[in-house]
Amino acid sequence: MTTVQTAAGRHALPDGTGHFGPYGGMFVPETLVTPLQELGAAYEEAWNDPAFRGDLDARLRTYAGRPTELYFAERLTRSLGGARIYLKREDLLHTGAHKINNALGQALLARRMGKTRVIAETGAGQHGIATASVCANLGLECVIYMGAVDMERQALNVYRMRLCGAEVRGVNAGQRTLKEAINEAMRDWVTNVRSTHYVLGSALGAHPYPMMVRNFHKVIGEETRRQIMEAEGRLPDELAACVGGGSNAIGFFFDFLDDPEVRLVGVEAGGRGITPGEHAARFEGGKLGVLQGCKTFILQNPEGQIELTHSVSAGLDYAAIGPEHAYYRDQDRIHFAYATDSDALEAFRACARLEGIIPALESSHALAYVMKRAPEMRPDSLLVVNLSGRGDKDVQEASRLIEAGGRE
Ligand SMILES: *Cc1c(COP(=O)(O)O)cnc(C)c1O
Repeated sequence: MTTVQTAAGRHALPDGTGHFGPYGGMFVPETLVTPLQELGAAYEEAWNDPAFRGDLDARLRTYAGRPTELYFAERLTRSLGGARIYLKREDLLHTGAHKINNALGQALLARRMGKTRVIAETGAGQHGIATASVCANLGLECVIYMGAVDMERQALNVYRMRLCGAEVRGVNAGQRTLKEAINEAMRDWVTNVRSTHYVLGSALGAHPYPMMVRNFHKVIGEETRRQIMEAEGRLPDELAACVGGGSNAIGFFFDFLDDPEVRLVGVEAGGRGITPGEHAARFEGGKLGVLQGCKTFILQNPEGQIELTHSVSAGLDYAAIGPEHAYYRDQDRIHFAYATDSDALEAFRACARLEGIIPALESSHALAYVMKRAPEMRPDSLLVVNLSGRGDKDVQEASRLIEAGGRE
């Protein structure tokens, strides 16, 4: 149905059925097939319309704060004694993370499709805040689904969403966290699809979402390419990004897929260590399966039930990974590593102390990888890490954990 026009014009994936090789697809109830096809067609048409792209670019600039800086981390580089380290500063964006790139793109698309109502689901609240903000900004009605447990844990974020005029609906099923909130959002969408657009928050779910979300984020990598050429006169040797569903990572990597000399590394959440139920590293023990619309690597038990996951960072704490990552891992194009909770906390502190930048705990996983990797690289090599978000939201939790760990 859809082929995608990329920056390089060379990547035709996903194919017409939304597959990245064996991954992806559209595994949804019958009633959602037509709405998803309509969404795919509307997206395609908008994406190829210079007026839509111009409007999106202008809003990314004036409302979200693009382009974000590419910052040379001099003290971090010196303390690690290896590669020159650059930070792509997505943490500087409005609402504190990369998520606004996608929320803004999808909300504009919703309005163009004549939808008056937007729904989304959120775990920690970051995607909810990005969505609630852009809906206020564009005058769209907004409903956010959130597990009741998460609402309690993230009371301040719930308040931020409500301040922006969103209705936050608590979900009391199952474990009362993100997975149940997603099920509830899907149910709402089935019921109200004529008036409503569902803003999915990561490069996950049924086609066309993984492709669409990637394309709304690929500006991250396009800017990085331009900025590193300006700063160093050549492409970087390696890029690293944390991977929850995979949106910040694929947005960062996408423009470099055709440059084999640039190594791409996604960093998953190793939690308390690689034991079932204690982590969210899908490539460390996950298996092929279908979850919430797409076929991909999933943490599951031998009976195929979704495994419990754990990570210190809510944004990485999910049992499935975006299908495009699974594909490029098979192709040996994107490599994967993981960082544990304690690695991430250490990197969180190091970045704050050495650079005066408090990273999100999600981004701290990528930084933890960089702290191990940089010293192995030559001093003239270039390592760029995507700082997907800022850590203000994590300060309280980090201080609690650091004290509990007796590290202070
Ligand atoms: C949500 C979030 C992530 C994880 O989502 P991806 O889709 O994997 O990018 C990473 N970092 C931050 C700061 C987030 O808010």
